[in-house]
Amino acid sequence: MGFFNWFSKKEENNKTTTSQNIEEKYQNILTQLEKHKKTAYLPVVENNPNSFSTHSKYGGYPYLRNENDWPICENCKLHMSLFLQLNLSELPIKKDEGLLQLFYCTNQEQDCESKLEAFFHFSKATACRKINIENHSAEIKPNNITIFKEKRIVDWQPKDDYPHFEDYAIHDLLINLDDDVYDLLDERQAG
Ligand SMILES: [Zn+2]
Repeated sequence: MGFFNWFSKKEENNKTTTSQNIEEKYQNILTQLEKHKKTAYLPVVENNPNSFSTHSKYGGYPYLRNENDWPICENCKLHMSLFLQLNLSELPIKKDEGLLQLFYCTNQEQDCESKLEAFFHFSKATACRKINIENHSAEIKPNNITIFKEKRIVDWQPKDDYPHFEDYAIHDLLINLDDDVYDLLDERQAG
């Protein structure tokens, strides 16, 4: 929410508002947003040594079906960094078989991100794929310059999730949000 810090700049006179008042307004907003409430799942992570495992994880090494299976950036010809691997059988809901893997080239020396416009869909400096788990993972020495430290996703924490203030319009919500209530929604990660 760093972009919206200006919303949290309270005027001095707002300090007279009691916290009880804010809580009431907050609850009132949640009631108005109730029919748009969804359950979100936040990953719970643990540091883990980099491993060619089939676990859900951020960073580290990907599961590889064979030793040529690690996606290579078309610009620098190096292995791309693994950003995320989701084992679909470990999801909290809508479980499935297989792995979803997301790779992104972070090679700044060769400027792959801008040369191949990695921030657009289907760039050759990124790869997103769904693969089946076959045998044990192949294990190779990556030629990638950046391997992020592996954080294994060990659990998913459910939470109530409401539309963010900026999305009220697309839901036809006409709600005036006071700065202090906005802050509370932000602080409690409600929307
Ligand atoms: Zn590259």
